[in-house]
Amino acid sequence: MTALLKVEDLKVAYGKIEAVKGISFEVNEGEIVCLVGTNGAGKTTTLRTLSGLIKPKSGTITFDGQPLAAVPAHKIVSLGLAHSPEGRHIFPRLTIAENLQLGAFLRTDKDGIEQDVQRAYEMFPILGERRKQAAGTLSGGEQQMLAMGRALMSRPKLLMLDEPSMGLSPLMMQKIMATIKELKATGMTILLVEQNAQAALSLSDSAHVMEIGKIVLSGTGRDLLHNEDVRKAYLGED
Ligand code: ATP
Repeated sequence: MTALLKVEDLKVAYGKIEAVKGISFEVNEGEIVCLVGTNGAGKTTTLRTLSGLIKPKSGTITFDGQPLAAVPAHKIVSLGLAHSPEGRHIFPRLTIAENLQLGAFLRTDKDGIEQDVQRAYEMFPILGERRKQAAGTLSGGEQQMLAMGRALMSRPKLLMLDEPSMGLSPLMMQKIMATIKELKATGMTILLVEQNAQAALSLSDSAHVMEIGKIVLSGTGRDLLHNEDVRKAYLGED
């Protein structure tokens, strides 16, 4: 298998605070790879660094065969790496349709963009029904759908999802997880950050547990789901 993303000994610091302390992992084409861990473990920092929003202190990131160190954030999107951030960051006063269009800001193929907007509406019918409404009127789960739909509008090779189930009802969470599975079935490669370890591990090909800036355990999603330490720490078992 080819590694679409390769992260080697990545270190990221906010001033003197070292948030990521030398992590290495790979994401192969067509896989779902998950980073789990408690608050402050460095998961969001890792995704923000991969997106080019934070410059790493050291280490290398190779995406689709290209080193990302000197590539600015907007160019990283055009290379095919899309990020659906934590807390969603949709534009509440813009309509749902406008929010989706913004995800295609680097594209000029009008017909292709329109096709992808329609695909987002097929994937999430509620977005189509309410396309002309302000995005701020959507529920939390629906805003999450919009954020995912918007990230897909850049036709990414790798989709990074930061806590897509945060704050959602169990039903909405199931819907989001089912959508992630559907995306994988279409061949999409996904890097997923989740606090909800049970749901995330059960759909991941491989997974890494992060604790205070380090990867402390790696394995297949299945392995970690059955690992006693993981069950105790993240799945609420005694
Ligand atoms: P969460 O799920 O809470 O977002 P996380 O695993 O994603 O957790 P990060 O948000 O990456 O963790 O945070 C890692 C560490 O870096 C934490 O100690 C956090 O306090 C610190 N940190 C994050 N952002 C900043 C910032 N802008 N300035 C200083 N420290 C930060």
